[in-house]
Amino acid sequence: MHASIAGGLAKAAHTARDKSCDCLQIFSRNPRGWKTNPLLDSDISSMRSTRDDVGLWPLAIHSVYLINLAATDEVLLARSREAFREEITRAISIGADFLVVHPGNPVGASTDYGIATAIESIKLATRGLKIDRLTILIENTAGQGSSIGCRFDQVADLAAGLNDLPIGVCLDTAHTLAAGYDISTEKGLKQTIREVERSFGFDKIKLIHCNDSKAPLGSRVDRHQHIGLGHIGDEGFRRIMHNSKFQGVPFILETPVDKERDYNWNLNRIRELAGPEEVNAAREER
Ligand SMILES: [Zn+2]
Ligand SMILES: [Zn+2]
Repeated sequence: MHASIAGGLAKAAHTARDKSCDCLQIFSRNPRGWKTNPLLDSDISSMRSTRDDVGLWPLAIHSVYLINLAATDEVLLARSREAFREEITRAISIGADFLVVHPGNPVGASTDYGIATAIESIKLATRGLKIDRLTILIENTAGQGSSIGCRFDQVADLAAGLNDLPIGVCLDTAHTLAAGYDISTEKGLKQTIREVERSFGFDKIKLIHCNDSKAPLGSRVDRHQHIGLGHIGDEGFRRIMHNSKFQGVPFILETPVDKERDYNWNLNRIRELAGPEEVNAAREER
């Protein structure tokens, strides 16, 4: 689950456990605004001990959205690199397993420029830091505006440019569909899996962001929807959850919370869809 850290990091770990979630994703800081308060030693130690007590794995941190590692504006780029370095040091101190980041948006420049800039940013941000226990996960994007990382080959290029570092991929199902990979159909899912294998490879995927998409296939618009109520749909998720390629990879929900449906609603929905279903299981075997 993706939980708020209002009330402390340890509380987020307990909330996850109360919902029988093994994995937790948090922001390690206020996601709005550049200014951060340093983490308190007491918060770090209580997070670490709570984590051990409840047996949480993995702990993922999502970098704040302000960070643009491919920015063409020099001031924004410098700020982004500094903020990302801080995300890394916080992730290390908390003992996080994964740090998720969107590759960035090179406004007014080419995709190639964006990819090269993002690679350079991550190299600079990690320079001199001991990050052996943390894996940086590049999240595929919907491709909104000129955002990079919507095509799997772009994600593969980013990962290849950073092969000295512990780098993995976070696959967001809503972004995947909005970027034009039709994971809502059986045929489309198969094709998408082939595309993953042809680009960065399935073994690079360390985390799945499980969200339905309010925006249609190929729209390049990033709008998360409740599980089953968007363009991926119940059947789409059922197939994904029952596909052997996706098994064993931790799932995090980043679904909306509104008057009718909350986080628990989505959690129950995805658990139902992941549950036994003979017809699907048989189809999957063939
Ligand atoms: Zn994200
Ligand atoms: Zn996501």
